[in-house]
Amino acid sequence: MIGLTLGYGIYICNGHNSARLLSHECRHVQQYEQAGSIAAYLPGYLQQIVQYGYTNAPYEVDARAHEADA
Ligand SMILES: [Zn+2]
Repeated sequence: MIGLTLGYGIYICNGHNSARLLSHECRHVQQYEQAGSIAAYLPGYLQQIVQYGYTNAPYEVDARAHEADA
């Protein structure tokens, strides 16, 4: 994991900052907003990871679809 988003806090490991990663993490912020709260979002997100794996989790697929280079 090189990026982590918790609500409006986006944490990126040193040396990995890029427009692509930031746009991915911003999409997770929007997913949080759609869910209504972190508490409402996280159980569903974690369930997707367990069920589909990280790469195929629908929230991750959606975030990748919204990645953009500057
Ligand atoms: Zn992601």
